[in-house]
Amino acid sequence: MSTAAAHLTPKNPTTGEPLAPVARTPLAAIDGIVAQARAAQQSWGRLDIDGRIAALGRFGARLADEAVVERLARSITAEMGKPIRESRGEVRNVARRLVAFGERARVAAAEEVAREGGIEVRVRWRPLGVAAVIAPWNYPVATPSNLILSALLTGNAIVFKPSELTPGTGAILHEVLAETLPEGLVGLVQGAGAEGAALVASDVDLIAFTGSIATGQSIMRSAADGLKRLVLELGGKDPMIILPGADLEAATRHAAIEAVRNAGQACVAVERVIVHASLVDEFLERAKALIATLKVGDPMDEKTDIGPMASRAQREWVVHQVASARAQGARVVVEGRSREPGFFLEPTIITDLRQEMSLVREETFGPVVAVEVCSGADEAIAWANGTHYGLGASIWGPAGEPLDRLAERLEAGMIGVNRGLSAAAGGPWVGWKRSGIGYSRSVAGMRNFMQPQSFSRTVGAGT
Ligand code: NAD
Repeated sequence: MSTAAAHLTPKNPTTGEPLAPVARTPLAAIDGIVAQARAAQQSWGRLDIDGRIAALGRFGARLADEAVVERLARSITAEMGKPIRESRGEVRNVARRLVAFGERARVAAAEEVAREGGIEVRVRWRPLGVAAVIAPWNYPVATPSNLILSALLTGNAIVFKPSELTPGTGAILHEVLAETLPEGLVGLVQGAGAEGAALVASDVDLIAFTGSIATGQSIMRSAADGLKRLVLELGGKDPMIILPGADLEAATRHAAIEAVRNAGQACVAVERVIVHASLVDEFLERAKALIATLKVGDPMDEKTDIGPMASRAQREWVVHQVASARAQGARVVVEGRSREPGFFLEPTIITDLRQEMSLVREETFGPVVAVEVCSGADEAIAWANGTHYGLGASIWGPAGEPLDRLAERLEAGMIGVNRGLSAAAGGPWVGWKRSGIGYSRSVAGMRNFMQPQSFSRTVGAGT
């Protein structure tokens, strides 16, 4: 095998220069890694929930160590361009979430007893076995960690495949897990689509995947052979609706900041802003002023708000979508230019979008405030629901019953009313329509990583 084929060669998106190559896991080695995880799962699965929480507490403590935070944060920023402040926040958040995750898992793992007509049924929630955790690059620590923690707390072993764009970050995360948990319990596969597909086809029981819809579909097809369980957290095209009476200052801030955070590369970024015609001029003026305050530049600089996009291909897609909307009559209010070296793209504000445009229908994943001008709430809801995505959504207007009723008409898994969507620990992280199958977080989310098993016995007539 040539060196190129045997290694991943990620690029630093700030410079476009190659980073240190990372060895791909040979396809022939994947079955062995899964078998090792399966062997380690035997005793891990027998530990009670307190034992698992204690073991993962050691991982959390290690992750909260400032030297580890810094090492991971620098790796995230070098590999995918996130501003260093946000990279540190991403790592710290995982350590902070651990306690809440443990509590959800404790409730999810508790035995249930039902009695009816002299029969008692005891329901146990058991681990599934080995979970493949396949991750994207945009939050390369937080996103896989949510699934890894869910799988481990519920008694499973995992085999983790980071994105080919962020293999170094994945390797460090794996190292911290491996040094705090039983040997073999957490496997690592480095590679791209071929290695991911081989892991899906291997002897795993669950595939916990975060990434694009197209890859999710391919995984679902392959998983059908073994009827493997799936948790698929997929792409979004989150709409944000702004109606008359909304706090326009707060709404504009949310729209502008959440459309361009992480250079727009967040699954729950504000991808579409549907603004009432009576508000649009003021909205655009405010959004322009806000965007002008954001510093685009070297993501290692503490003052930077927006770093480069993660890859040249990602930037090309965003530039293409904006150009195509413009050619179809959309109006560019702020033109985001590409900057070299690296894969920088300044924020764009574009309005007068129509429903048939790609910028309205297909995930952008770039720093674009994309505005549709509506004539009323019914039209806004119909437009918001008009794509095959259904991850997040938000609606902004006068607080109260009518706004709550409108929010309930939105076809999305996670909805914010006069705020961004909630990622509170007690709620599920869930997509509707093609944005996902299965889900994580919350008690019910934990149970996606478990198998119920019932034991019945006769306890006497009429009991
Ligand atoms: P992607 O689908 O291209 O890749 C994701 C992962 O799947 C990578 O590790 C990749 O190597 C692997 N992969 C590729 N082909 C595979 C195959 N055939 N079988 C198994 N694995 C395979 O996605 P991406 O570009 O890395 O990430 C961006 C996407 O992720 C966006 O659509 C974004 O919305 C989505 N995302 C969703 C959430 C969520 O919570 N719903 C969170 C973050 C990102």
